[in-house]
Amino acid sequence: MTENDRKSGTSLSQESILTHSGRASEEHLGFVNVPVFRGSTILFNTLDELEDYKRTYRYGRNDNPTNRALAQLVTELEGAAGTVICPSGLSAVSTALLAAVSAGDEVLITDSAYEPTRTFSSEGLARLGITTRYYDPRIGAGIAALITDKTKAIFAETPGSLTFEMQDLPAIVAAAHARDVIVIVDNSWATPLYHSPLKLGADMVMHAATKMFVGHSDAMLGTVSANERTWNRLRRTHRILGVATSPDDCYLALRGMRTLALRMKNHTEQSVAFAQWLETRPEVEEVYHPALPSHPDHAIYQRDFTGSGSLFAFRLKKRSRDALAAMVNGFELFGMGYSWGGYESLCLPFDPGNIRTAVPWTAEGQMFRVHIGLEGFDDLKADMTAALERYSRG
Ligand SMILES: *Cc1c(COP(=O)(O)O)cnc(C)c1O
Repeated sequence: MTENDRKSGTSLSQESILTHSGRASEEHLGFVNVPVFRGSTILFNTLDELEDYKRTYRYGRNDNPTNRALAQLVTELEGAAGTVICPSGLSAVSTALLAAVSAGDEVLITDSAYEPTRTFSSEGLARLGITTRYYDPRIGAGIAALITDKTKAIFAETPGSLTFEMQDLPAIVAAAHARDVIVIVDNSWATPLYHSPLKLGADMVMHAATKMFVGHSDAMLGTVSANERTWNRLRRTHRILGVATSPDDCYLALRGMRTLALRMKNHTEQSVAFAQWLETRPEVEEVYHPALPSHPDHAIYQRDFTGSGSLFAFRLKKRSRDALAAMVNGFELFGMGYSWGGYESLCLPFDPGNIRTAVPWTAEGQMFRVHIGLEGFDDLKADMTAALERYSRG
């Protein structure tokens, strides 16, 4: 049996899956890593081969050994029936939602979802006759009251983008499945190492692979994995939409993922320690990190997660734009940029007030989202200390 044949449900640890799954050295002349298979046309030698629709590879858009290796790895990590690869995290969101809903249906999306997920739904799905309603991320079992006969999918993201509310996924799944509603989870923050939505009953789990999977800020990619119940719908939707992803980018993701466990361990330790340190700073009004006991949803984190992601938020008192500019323009190590998940630390000012619709954001002050990278901890602390002082002076 080649390593490719091993099915999900394996008893190997996540670390061993990360280092071994998807590889097929014996098919690739002994080389450890799956090579980049670039190609559109695949040649058939005989009419029998041409007519054999079970043949593994038939056309480059549909499948490719590099992409398949990545799908295999994510399938094993998530304990899924199968995984599709998409050219960005957002295309993973749209592919998952399009697999779940049809004209006339309604989708419930957490108010804390990644903003482009909202835009795809409110703008894109609306054009197809699909209605979006936003729900309080802390609604839990209360979501049952929002489900109507038209509701066909619930989209959860835990913790929420930017604001880090945790969702009671088992309670949401129970309410959804009582009404035959599909539950989709954005699991980009925790990665499959620290959170397993399918094991908690969700039907599909997606990743902005651009972030932690790729891990080096040098490729765009997404994945969606499905359970047995939804896998055929997801696979068909991905196929008919023509969502094809570059094998070069899949190669980069595979390469990044071989060290994911090591990177996540470091990101987690540093991000928790950094958040704890920020909590002690007099300038800081509030820190939003689910792994801290001060977080209002810490109990859910402890119950459903085995570790935390690199990202969290904090809030300072509102000051002038000049003070904010002095703070962020003067960073030496922290960078300012969208995205996250690379080896380098980021600190991004933002305003959730512009995004929310179900639960208005009322906390006063300036919010920042932080991604703690792999730099030395004391260097990051010094850079942030100087930044907080610049802000306070402004
Ligand atoms: C970045 C991100 C996405 C979208 O991924 P892209 O690769 O940028 O399209 C989706 N969900 C979350 C939580 C993200 O952070």
